[in-house]
Amino acid sequence: MPTAIVIGSGPNGLAGAVTLARAGLDVVVHEEQPTIGGGTRSAELTLPGFVHDLCSAIHPLARLSPFFRGVDLQLDWVELDIQTAHPFDDGTAVVLHRDVAETARSLGTDERAYRRLFEPVVEHWAAVEPVLVGPYPPPPGRVLAMLRALGPRGAAYSARLALASARSVAEKTFSTPQGRALFAGNAAHSMLPLEMRPSGGFGYALMLLGHVYGWGFPRGGSQRIADGLLARLRDLGGEVRTSSPVDELPVADVVLADVMPGDLLRMAAGRFPARYARALERYRHGPAAFKLDWALDGPIPWRAEECRHAATVHLGGTLEEIAASESGPWTGRHAERPFVLLAQHSIFDDTRAPAGKHTAWAYCHVPNGSTEDMTERIEAQVERFAPGFRELVLARSVKSPADFEEGNRNLVGGDINGGAPDLAQLFFRPVRKPVPYRTPLKGVYLCSSATPPGGGVHGMCGYAAAEVALRDLRASNKMSSGAA
Ligand SMILES: Cc1cc2nc3c(=O)[nH]c(=O)nc-3n(C[C@H](O)[C@H](O)[C@H](O)COP(=O)(O)OP(=O)(O)OC[C@H]3O[C@@H](n4cnc5c(N)ncnc54)[C@H](O)[C@@H]3O)c2cc1C
Repeated sequence: MPTAIVIGSGPNGLAGAVTLARAGLDVVVHEEQPTIGGGTRSAELTLPGFVHDLCSAIHPLARLSPFFRGVDLQLDWVELDIQTAHPFDDGTAVVLHRDVAETARSLGTDERAYRRLFEPVVEHWAAVEPVLVGPYPPPPGRVLAMLRALGPRGAAYSARLALASARSVAEKTFSTPQGRALFAGNAAHSMLPLEMRPSGGFGYALMLLGHVYGWGFPRGGSQRIADGLLARLRDLGGEVRTSSPVDELPVADVVLADVMPGDLLRMAAGRFPARYARALERYRHGPAAFKLDWALDGPIPWRAEECRHAATVHLGGTLEEIAASESGPWTGRHAERPFVLLAQHSIFDDTRAPAGKHTAWAYCHVPNGSTEDMTERIEAQVERFAPGFRELVLARSVKSPADFEEGNRNLVGGDINGGAPDLAQLFFRPVRKPVPYRTPLKGVYLCSSATPPGGGVHGMCGYAAAEVALRDLRASNKMSSGAA
């Protein structure tokens, strides 16, 4: 039986491990930290009985992922009609509903513009999804099927949108401050300045996912995703060893590395050809997160009623204000009024807090490696849209970029996306090769979010890397081509 060693138990490492074990390989995963899951871990960060997600909290990408849909993880998904709410200073809010038409109607004079933007792709989603989601690169047949479904003009329009800056999409498409702000808040998840391409593509894709799959999350916390993957791996005979850091490349038929390019280079200890080593050295990390988790004495007292019905709330006001906040982290500045992404699971998931109490999770973007304390500024943003919030805080956990990196060496300088997702690094991560998972060392593959399709909990980097490894194994006759 061919052997496989997986370095790192993030969602990509575990997805790769499950894929290899399913094909019959003898798989061992080594995880440096005492607990498994990387970006999918939950813990009582504040007070006993309050369960917080250390990193990822909302999971549209896991819902979308063909890998996750192909393994039964026994998750209990919480799905809501409102995917995200975006409040304004006058006490109103705009929301992303699951339904395109309902969202469009709520935008008044922007109704038609909204429908034009989303309806064609939602209607032809079955043809778009295989190209958008991977594995990469998409086979030409899939690209052709998508072009046929959308038509030449529709396909050209979608491609332009996917590669555009958020600011240009928002300003050219919408005339109302509400429409523009809704788009800006979604695009800001990219951690790119809203004037930088392809921030518009990120916003567009996230909103599409809100309409097609919804922004659900697993009851119990994101740890349930890692635990589900571990259970699946064990069923298949695989094993995970925690508190087991790997600092040099191990020997096995397949080595899958759920690590960052800089670490892979160190582990290879001079064995990579100079050109590949230089490409890994040049790989750029993006801005970082500064995160707070709160144990609360009650639900957040939002002024806008809609915010009480959404698990995700975008705090940043207008397009202009969000754009000012998001350009800062790229130029070493910290916003006075940062755009804040907030999740309030416990309103919809009673496993997260004791009866009558609540949790909330929030972060803003800061420059990579920032040491600035953003606690006061994040809380001021929540208070701005929910007066009385501060009085509910029973305890808080504060995570700086350095704290993130200490808890997971993949979060370099606090970068949560595994590398800047700008145009130069979005499709060609971490090197300009059609199959970026394969390294020049035989049997060694990179499978972290520093490979396509990049950051987020979808497991597709791990799955795609494992599929490439299996193809190579079959080609080298180490495995029969009939293996599952
Ligand atoms: C604050 C924050 C919020 C986020 N919010 C969301 C969200 O809401 N939704 C979403 O989809 N995504 C979100 N993400 C992003 C998501 O968590 C990551 O993109 C995803 O976890 C990447 O998966 P991965 O497997 O590539 O790496 P990781 O999840 O980072 O896992 C890597 C694992 O490998 C281990 N490791 C690394 N090097 C070694 C080594 N040498 N030896 C042994 N073990 C090693 C690490 O300890 C870690 O456990 C968020 C991330 C953060 C930090």
